[in-house]
Amino acid sequence: MKKRILSGMRPTGKLHLGHLVGALSNWTKLQSEYECFFMVADWHALMSEYENPQMLKENILDNVVDWLSCGIDPEKSTIFIQSQVAEHLELSFILSLITPLGLLERCPTYKEQLREITNRDLSTYAFLGYPVLQAADILLYKAEAVPVGEDQLPHLELTRQIVRKFKHLYKTDCFAEPKALLTEANRLLGLDGRKMSKSYNNYIGLSEEPEIIRKKIQNMFTDPQRIRLTDPGHPRKCNVFSYYSIFFPDLKQEAEQRCSKSSIGCTACKKELAEKIISLLEPIQARRRHLLKDKGRIHEILSEGRVKALSVAEKTISEVRNLLKIKYEL
Ligand code: SF4
Repeated sequence: MKKRILSGMRPTGKLHLGHLVGALSNWTKLQSEYECFFMVADWHALMSEYENPQMLKENILDNVVDWLSCGIDPEKSTIFIQSQVAEHLELSFILSLITPLGLLERCPTYKEQLREITNRDLSTYAFLGYPVLQAADILLYKAEAVPVGEDQLPHLELTRQIVRKFKHLYKTDCFAEPKALLTEANRLLGLDGRKMSKSYNNYIGLSEEPEIIRKKIQNMFTDPQRIRLTDPGHPRKCNVFSYYSIFFPDLKQEAEQRCSKSSIGCTACKKELAEKIISLLEPIQARRRHLLKDKGRIHEILSEGRVKALSVAEKTISEVRNLLKIKYEL
């Protein structure tokens, strides 16, 4: 039997190349090896977007269309919306009963996000409990492994600590400690060299028009020491080169040599990259156009996913309620 994994994505905006290299390409590969549950994490999105909840609905459909266009296959994987399975919140509450406050306050990503995200008030009760909901997401499906990047490891460790406490308190093996499926996700920088993000407006969207892609790539920062065409470039210091390395590893060596030997100018180098990215996205965009002609099918996929997710979630919650003696016959 295949091992089960769970992963999710917050529907906070349109998907971009960062999502493709950071998660979707990996999800696509994992589908054949694992029983995959892929979740649209709308409750998680609301934790930061609670002042603007109307954007979620639009993003959910748009993101799922991108998932499918990138190769997530509803025949192989369960695709569902977190808030449509009420058990996520129930288990999250139950786990919050036993999660020490200090564990959450010390969580490095919590502190980092409070520091870095300054345009929203994240000093809320829900946001502090973000990793508890994450633990509930994983444990509800008894996922044996979770695909994570290194930065997500502290959250997973917190889940594992919660599992140990649950086991100790209720003398049960109901939950096993999920393992990290460390993904070698490439970290794609945004066009300006910072983390690629919609809020920095430094991204290339998966559904972006070719003309916009050309303009965006032409405006990318390059090696600051290369001023004249004849100056040898330092590709390792150039973000454009990092795109070649990530998306077109076969061309990496050539791109590196022609830059350092100044046999190509930055404008031409970026022009070539733009055309290659456009070609890379073309089949994804064609599938997207096709899928958007039948939105009813997307709703069907999500509804089938919900039924599958519910069938697992209900069993887990019933088990947990039994363990906690939350079963009254009044
Ligand atoms: S030639 Fe290409 S890789 Fe070299 S600095 Fe210019 S844009 Fe960057």
